[in-house]
Amino acid sequence: MSVHRAALCRGPYGGEGDQADGTDCSDPAVFEVARHDLPPLRVCPVHLGPSLLMASRVLWPPEIRLIGRL
Ligand SMILES: [Zn+2]
Repeated sequence: MSVHRAALCRGPYGGEGDQADGTDCSDPAVFEVARHDLPPLRVCPVHLGPSLLMASRVLWPPEIRLIGRL
């Protein structure tokens, strides 16, 4: 099991463009949240809830995929 995902959490704001540094979380991402016209937002468990409410263009109802280990 050497699958080691380097993806880090981008939550809770899922910064893109001008707001690209809206995140300072450095935990590994465990979930991927689908967004309109944007790449999926990768977040850690702590930021999953906040990102659904605060990141821009999150689908509603949310579409969440598990991409890492809990
Ligand atoms: Zn996080």
